[in-house]
Amino acid sequence: MIQEKLQSLPQGKFSDSGRYWCATCKKFFRLDEPKCPYMTNMCINTPIAVENLSAESPEALEKFGLYYPKLPQKFMSNVIKSSKGLGEKFAKSYLDFLNDWNINYSNQPIQTLKSFILIISGCETAQRISEEKVAFIIMDPEKVWKDKIILKEIIEEGVQYLKNTFNLKKK
Ligand SMILES: [Zn+2]
Repeated sequence: MIQEKLQSLPQGKFSDSGRYWCATCKKFFRLDEPKCPYMTNMCINTPIAVENLSAESPEALEKFGLYYPKLPQKFMSNVIKSSKGLGEKFAKSYLDFLNDWNINYSNQPIQTLKSFILIISGCETAQRISEEKVAFIIMDPEKVWKDKIILKEIIEEGVQYLKNTFNLKKK
């Protein structure tokens, strides 16, 4: 009966850019049609065309940093010899990605910073927040990064750039 009911419901809207966001699975997809490929039999939600509705948070991006094999981060760790200018470049392409995928982030600056740190580092990240300060603590960076100092420099520069962009006053 549930299947029948579902069949009768309207299909999801097509995305002109082929970009979708599943609010149930908290995942972003490039698809030919609005069908969530993540849990095909479980997810009865149609993914939302990014043109129709913003993903409400960049939180889902943490998965790229945490759950998938940390190949991009390990690759970066191997090829990057100097952090110079990289933090800002990564921050800019991160913002481009958020805008491109219509992700609503301006109301969640701390979460947006945290997702950035997770994607770049590939490490679990904790935070301590007080009235005037935010501290992000990257856990076990040596498991992914050969050189922790380079990672720290990239993150600091990137976070500074994002912080200025969001006009975030906390230290
Ligand atoms: Zn889904």
